[in-house]
Amino acid sequence: HLAPAASASVAPQGHHTTHEAPSTWETHNFLDNEFVPSQTSQWIDLHDPATNNLVTRVPQSTDAELVAAVDSAQKAFKSWRETSLLHRQQIMFKYVALIRENWDRLAASITIEQGKTFPDARGDVLRGLQVAETACGITTQMTGEVLEVSKDMETRTYKEPLGVVAAICPFNFPAMIPLWCIPIATITGNTLVIKPSERDPGAAMILAELAVKAGFPPGVVNVVHGAAKTVDFIIDEPRIKAISFVGSNRAGEYIYTRGSANGKRVQANLGAKNHAAVLPDCNKNHALNAIAGAAFGAAGQRCMALSTLVMVGETKDWVPEIGERAKEISMNGGFEEGADLGPVISPQAKQRIEDIIASAEQEGATIIMDGRGKKPEKYPNGNWIGPTIIANVKPHMRCYTEEIFGPVLVCLNVDTIDEAIDLINANEYGNGTAIFTRSGATAGRFQHEIEAGQVGVNVPIPVPLPMFSFTGNKKSIAGGGANTFYGKPGIAFYTQTKTVTSLWRSEDAVNTKARVNMPTHS
Ligand code: NAD
Repeated sequence: HLAPAASASVAPQGHHTTHEAPSTWETHNFLDNEFVPSQTSQWIDLHDPATNNLVTRVPQSTDAELVAAVDSAQKAFKSWRETSLLHRQQIMFKYVALIRENWDRLAASITIEQGKTFPDARGDVLRGLQVAETACGITTQMTGEVLEVSKDMETRTYKEPLGVVAAICPFNFPAMIPLWCIPIATITGNTLVIKPSERDPGAAMILAELAVKAGFPPGVVNVVHGAAKTVDFIIDEPRIKAISFVGSNRAGEYIYTRGSANGKRVQANLGAKNHAAVLPDCNKNHALNAIAGAAFGAAGQRCMALSTLVMVGETKDWVPEIGERAKEISMNGGFEEGADLGPVISPQAKQRIEDIIASAEQEGATIIMDGRGKKPEKYPNGNWIGPTIIANVKPHMRCYTEEIFGPVLVCLNVDTIDEAIDLINANEYGNGTAIFTRSGATAGRFQHEIEAGQVGVNVPIPVPLPMFSFTGNKKSIAGGGANTFYGKPGIAFYTQTKTVTSLWRSEDAVNTKARVNMPTHS
């Protein structure tokens, strides 16, 4: 049952690994608790972003393989939903322990395939693991409601699983996003078909291997691969009842619209442009460190990256000091000691980011720090872009209107907090935002008036822990944010509420006339 995906197999327990993985190893599908080689003729090459060496090739799973995954999940659902909650909880306890034991191995796979630094990749795993840990409390989270409506009559609610559900994942959190889905979908009694990002499926393959070891029966977790063709299959397959999607607006709006039209539940977390408002009264060192870390960490490839700085009043003069901090950030291969910043995911992503930087220059912004052309000596062939700071940005510029998803901080100047709030609210995205101030009153006003799902007060990346929910807003979440990931809404997403109203009269009925009016219980 060992995961044969190249990165899963070669990633060792420590961080002394190399980026060189055998190029002949293929990533397999995972069906019925077995790793099955794909029969496809269409392969997607996966390169290490730090070297562009081939790591593995990922199949565009065939129609037969995709159908087989849903067959497997459908078959497993019948018996899985009948297992007791305590049984599923025991499996989740084991799963949690196994993920912790394999933490470094998962992180190493992420560094090889996705490029983020090894310590940051460990964080990726941990934020997913915490969802699994929280899911272990399911015995309390699944309780329903009961109301004694009148003498002898009561109404109860039950949370029932939906059936087969699917998850479509992005490249930027190869462990965390699958783990937003696997624990909650399965512990609530559903069976799951996951499609990891075709750019870095290795962590999901290790998670599949650990699912077998934890005791998940065959078919409860299946993994298929591919790009848009696999997504279209998932959207149109009638036996799949719900889709969890995380990724770009381009793909997500399409999946939400077509999936919903097909009668499925869809939760879809999309793109972002997260603003930080910096006020002159803030704890300056804390704010500048936090901003530089959150703008450039993970090479800016986080949906909660703090990519846009709104400098209020005199703080506009602080840009050079952010530059000083950015200079201290070490760009290097993710396994190298002291590396802070890895490469971006692909040569195409690098090109796109460089084009945006060039457009800012052409549109009259000031490039304070230019990461184009920078590369670490040891990795000349990677997709490198150093920290970049663009000042005097105006809202019409491309670097402001587009999600950059690279290590680029764009800075805008405003005179007052009112202008900052208006600017942030006028942006079409609303994933996260942060304010840096020492004034409780200003922070209170900001958190009340701002239209973003996740607000940090002196906290740069306010991603809620899994006892809360990931609450994007505006264009950052499809469907007006009705279906959010993890927390109580996450359990609601993966379950159907059933209400049962019962009447147990203690006396025999004596009346023989049927009542035809709508019962009102009044
Ligand atoms: P992406 O949309 O390119 O890919 C996500 C998934 O959709 C992949 O599995 C991919 O195979 C599939 N896909 C891509 N194009 C498709 C198409 N045309 N039709 C059907 N399926 C398609 O996103 P990505 O580049 O992997 O991830 C980065 C994006 O994800 C960024 O926009 C980022 O903000 C967003 N993101 C959002 C959150 C959040 O919680 N809001 C979290 C992480 C990432």
